[in-house]
Amino acid sequence: MADVLVVVDHVEGSVRKPTLELLTVARRLGAPVAVALGAGAGGTAGVLGSHGASRVLVSEAPEFADVLVVPRVDAVQRAVELVGPVAVLFVSSGENKEVAARLALRLGSGVITDAVDVEAGEGGPVAVQSAFAASYTTRSRVTRGISVITVKPNSAPVEAVEGAGAVEELAVDFAGSARGARVVSRSARESTGRPELTEAAIVVSGGRGLGSGENFALIEALADALGGAVGASRAAVDAGWYPHAHQVGQTGKSVSPQLYIASGISGAIQHRAGMQTSKTIVAINKDAEAPIFDLVDYGVVGDLHTVVPQLTEEINKRKG
Ligand code: FAD
Repeated sequence: MADVLVVVDHVEGSVRKPTLELLTVARRLGAPVAVALGAGAGGTAGVLGSHGASRVLVSEAPEFADVLVVPRVDAVQRAVELVGPVAVLFVSSGENKEVAARLALRLGSGVITDAVDVEAGEGGPVAVQSAFAASYTTRSRVTRGISVITVKPNSAPVEAVEGAGAVEELAVDFAGSARGARVVSRSARESTGRPELTEAAIVVSGGRGLGSGENFALIEALADALGGAVGASRAAVDAGWYPHAHQVGQTGKSVSPQLYIASGISGAIQHRAGMQTSKTIVAINKDAEAPIFDLVDYGVVGDLHTVVPQLTEEINKRKG
């Protein structure tokens, strides 16, 4: 069976959920071989093995933390040379897309970014993408070289499957250019205790209809009841009600959760661009003619100040 490289996202050995989803995708194409880089990479092998990885190539070289991007390209390229895979899969993120693009250039391959699914195909893996604010679904494949594909979080289920998970040290020769841009300082973002917006299975977003920044407490309470992340429309962000890091849409983040709840958001095309691939969409809006209702699975016409607290209360009651 052909090997498929899966580049692991982890935080000091703790594997992030989208990587486990990627292993599910990889198993459709062949035998997953994981590449884990950076501090704590060796600690990822157990969980990767129990989600189907046959091998785990590990490098904990300090370059991954100290230098931007290029050391990761060097390492994944080395892994490609070692394994000879049919495809290299990354979780879609800003940094991973840069690594993927640089890797594809070095390999003389094509790259496909932001796939929402990947299927096995006759001539190689077929990536499904959602284009023009999800107005079109496209299927494409890399026609030259090894398929390099980045896949959005929440594109596949996490499946526990026993793999050998055999750990191998990956020896990397770092290119001279790897040292071109150094990280000089880091500051940890204050944790909200909520999941990362782009990875969350549930996202609850608020818009201008909230009326004030303080009213985002309603959205946060609903998100917490559901174990979800908080999103915001640009109107809410521009008003200074919520930080830009939470903006969903064309000029914000792209999310694709199992459940997206939009409250007091009209559904402008630029907002839809960032959330339209969500599996189930619910909107709460007092205007029955709001465009958001054109794309919802469930819509509630009502005042969010009444509906959202009731919903939160009911969910908490059922959980208790
Ligand atoms: P509005 O359009 O003002 O809608 C508010 C909604 O709340 C209305 O439908 C109203 O009926 C409802 N409402 C009011 N009060 C209540 C209540 N009490 N209860 C229930 N419902 C209520 N927007 C983004 O979101 N993300 C982007 O990334 C983004 N990028 C953009 C990029 C460009 C280049 C441009 C030009 C625009 C971009 N926009 C983006 C802005 C976008 O066009 C809209 O202006 C914005 O999405 C509107 O935000 P909103 O839905 O919160 O506000």
